[in-house]
Amino acid sequence: MRTGAAKNFLFMSFSERRGVQPRCHGGVPSGSVPEGDTIYRAAKTLDLALSGKQVTHFETVLPKLARVDDDSALRGRTVEHVSSRGKHLLISFSGGLVLRTHMRMNGSWHIYRPGERWQKPRVDMRIVVATEDFVAVAFNVGVAEFLASENISRRSAVSRLGPDLLAETFDLEDALRRIAAEPRAAIADVLLNQRVVSGIGNVYKSEVLFVCGVDPFREAGALGREILETLLSTARKLMQMNVRTGSDRGIVTYTGFRRTTGRSDPSQRLWVYGRGGKPCRKCGTPIQRKKQGADARSTYWCPQCQS
Ligand SMILES: [Zn+2]
Repeated sequence: MRTGAAKNFLFMSFSERRGVQPRCHGGVPSGSVPEGDTIYRAAKTLDLALSGKQVTHFETVLPKLARVDDDSALRGRTVEHVSSRGKHLLISFSGGLVLRTHMRMNGSWHIYRPGERWQKPRVDMRIVVATEDFVAVAFNVGVAEFLASENISRRSAVSRLGPDLLAETFDLEDALRRIAAEPRAAIADVLLNQRVVSGIGNVYKSEVLFVCGVDPFREAGALGREILETLLSTARKLMQMNVRTGSDRGIVTYTGFRRTTGRSDPSQRLWVYGRGGKPCRKCGTPIQRKKQGADARSTYWCPQCQS
């Protein structure tokens, strides 16, 4: 199901022949918050484009960021690396400065060649970080702040995140402890809680629970360790499947729409998400949809396969 224009990231597909070619892909249905895999891919791509390069131009309409730039100019610093932590994107500059952005509902980072026409109006621009070769533009980011790199793990919102499902080493025991602290919460809400584990958004929430055959409304405390481990490893597997890099030369190729079924046909790429009323791909029972949790996020599930 795809309706309207994608509001999430504009992905940058790196092709060896043509260099960076911005293309708009709807990885998340319109209006969804980008999930960890989306941010991870964006960070990887920005990292390839910007890392090791000197900032030739910095511009922002956000007063708090502009003040930092006035005090200690961004221009002339080197971009050290771009990374993601859950749904936060972190751009580290030389001199110990980190730009943290969070996309919320409508934010995105685009990357362009100098002089290339932007895909969004200038009025939506919040931040520009340019090097000699690339211009990275943040549009409508929901959160943006500069942090001192030594404070990242202590003071920022990043420090409160649960273990990152896409990190190279995932701390399973820490994740299980955090789940255990929410025994009365529905498992779907627990998976979505970024302070429990970071990276799962609304699409993966439903997909992971379906793949594991778990009722989204069951209390987390009623599930045994084995099934919780399976949920986490499945989430990790499904998300990793969607961030695989396309080449051993470090060139990121965005492989298409998010999928969990392993099928590339766009109409068959997800098990349950966005499929309310349609037959379950395993048993034919109509997929159910219900708003769930404090934020009333849609949950999709098969009452037969997930009972
Ligand atoms: Zn079913």
